[in-house]
Amino acid sequence: MREIEDFTDDRLKAWCIHCGAAIADIKSNRDHVPTKSLLTRTLRERGAAYDIGAGDETDYLPQVIVCRRCNSSFSPDENYLLCVLHAVIAGSLYPDPAKHPEAATILRSNRHVVRSLKSGPDGQLLSFENSKPLALFPDTDKIRRVIVKNARGHAYHEIGEPLLEAPDHVGFIPLEHLSREQCDAFETAGTGAELSVWPEVGSRMMIELLDEEAMIGGWITVEPGRYRYSIDWSGAVTVKTVMWEYLATETRWER
Ligand SMILES: [Zn+2]
Repeated sequence: MREIEDFTDDRLKAWCIHCGAAIADIKSNRDHVPTKSLLTRTLRERGAAYDIGAGDETDYLPQVIVCRRCNSSFSPDENYLLCVLHAVIAGSLYPDPAKHPEAATILRSNRHVVRSLKSGPDGQLLSFENSKPLALFPDTDKIRRVIVKNARGHAYHEIGEPLLEAPDHVGFIPLEHLSREQCDAFETAGTGAELSVWPEVGSRMMIELLDEEAMIGGWITVEPGRYRYSIDWSGAVTVKTVMWEYLATETRWER
């Protein structure tokens, strides 16, 4: 992605978007939205190069300033979601390292997550763990926390709006489970409908709208096949994401 300088009113940047703590009073650092581990290593390395002033100008990865405590508190859940995605895509909790090297490495180094994913909702171990399709019953609260964290970050990064309240709606479902109509509705991500509601003046989204390269189709692709998101701020603020072209998410704040 190309970095667009953010001219949002600095008053909006005074608080951590997750806990509301005043940034001036606490230790803070930059947090990647989306969660960096969801992207490929190649892209992460290019993003890191950009951050130190090297690399290509399109290698910027979106970041927001949050308090350090919030930043690190998300790590276990982010790691959990990463394991779930790897297991689902590889079709196993014990992927073949030859076929799925990255998944095999991640899942092997997160035995505690694999153990918890092996248990069914009734507390029983899944008996056919190597058969397909792989049935997982992940902890939806953990996944929801990561989705909301990223949605908040996207909204803040793009429209300069801190959404400190809990969202009114959080949904997620594998794309393939959506009906044709649901899928069409989901993919038709608004760029603000009739643009009746403008985002915070000076925000990145405002600048993108004024730019010829305004969000084509409403989706911003951070990495093809890995992560894309869209924001509709007409009325409610709705953030949609698609992770690994597998998991569709929708988070909404009514206003
Ligand atoms: Zn915080």
